[in-house]
Amino acid sequence: MMIRFAIVPLLLALNFSMCKRNETVSQNPQPAGASPSAPASTTTPVAAASPKITKPVVDQTAQVIIFCYHRLVGKVRYPGTEITPAAFEAQMKELKDRGITVIPMQDLLAWKRGEKNIPPRCAVISFDDGWKSQYEVAWPIMKKFEYPFTMFIYTEGVRGGSLGGGEAITWEQLAEMRDNGVDIEAHTATHQDLREGHTIMVANPGGKRSRTKLTGPQYEQWVQNEVVGSKQLLEQRLGIKVNCFAVPFGNYNEHVKELARNAGYEAMFTVYGQPITFTSPLDSLGRYAIEANKPKVFEDALKMIGTSTGGAAAVAEVGAKDLATQPTDGETVRTALPLIKANLSAIGQIEPGSVQMRVSGLGVVPASYDPKTGIVSYQVTQKLREKSCSVFVSAKSAGKKVEAHWTFGIEEGATGGTISPPPTPKK
Ligand SMILES: [Zn+2]
Repeated sequence: MMIRFAIVPLLLALNFSMCKRNETVSQNPQPAGASPSAPASTTTPVAAASPKITKPVVDQTAQVIIFCYHRLVGKVRYPGTEITPAAFEAQMKELKDRGITVIPMQDLLAWKRGEKNIPPRCAVISFDDGWKSQYEVAWPIMKKFEYPFTMFIYTEGVRGGSLGGGEAITWEQLAEMRDNGVDIEAHTATHQDLREGHTIMVANPGGKRSRTKLTGPQYEQWVQNEVVGSKQLLEQRLGIKVNCFAVPFGNYNEHVKELARNAGYEAMFTVYGQPITFTSPLDSLGRYAIEANKPKVFEDALKMIGTSTGGAAAVAEVGAKDLATQPTDGETVRTALPLIKANLSAIGQIEPGSVQMRVSGLGVVPASYDPKTGIVSYQVTQKLREKSCSVFVSAKSAGKKVEAHWTFGIEEGATGGTISPPPTPKK
């Protein structure tokens, strides 16, 4: 288990998940295409608070934010993937207080299919990887609020699997959750970068693991097991239907998407948080990863779906290329302490004080903005722990919010996570 920690520590912090829906035998007898008039409670008995559906037509202006949590612990040691039960519970309460309806993942998908209406402002709660604290700590809290939720499981991490240590959930616990209406979905087999040619750990005969880069047929065989095999295993072990796929670290590409689509996944999830609208593409639904060291992410996410009177403010998307970013989109840098820059002059007149930069793993950073040059910059002072880093820069121009985002890589070995205490022991 310690060995495994050393191998996979970083991956957890940045998971991307994509979801599937599982239908439990006992409580969800309906097929995915449930009739629009079906009460929400048919899908998830847990969601006693779900409103009865009265409108035959779905509300296309509704918005959904999806949250992603990892471990719940009394004492946070790895703030990148942990949160205290008290902080978690406070967030669940805040959703209720703010009139945001927590809906089952399958209702979100049914809404996207035009089959089921949802309230104007909703949240979906998901838990990644399969930690036992999700069963022991999070679940009782979710029961208290009668909130439905989704578990994204990577199968080798379940206790008894090659990566499943003492903090991992067991198949028996997952079965119990399933029987109580919890949605269980896929998060690969071994939780790694799914793109061809990227460094991964593989198990060798004898149980030893080694670092390698797979290409060609070997890669195809491996990725098939990650994307398709993990789904089949969950379906077979638990007797469920999996239709959501959470991509580890959000590292995927068109090929992986195609594999996932062919395998029958209806939706794929990343950890690039964004409000989900009726037209959001199903193969890249962004979730907000909530962790102890970024409490603001939760608040900001709530703001994104605006007030009860309407949706989020319109955001105009600007290509990162137009902002001459540094590092550039797709670039791999050699340091975990990069200087991040973007030139906002292409956007036009920027409202002073409106410039914001957020960095994956850090949240909003104290970036400096020079109105004369239009350059916003931030020198990272705390080693980035993930090998992939996403930057979001936003500003207001002429009363409108404008946003750009891009992703760069950090060379293997340079990330803070590989050195010093592993930031995130996976279960
Ligand atoms: Zn994960």
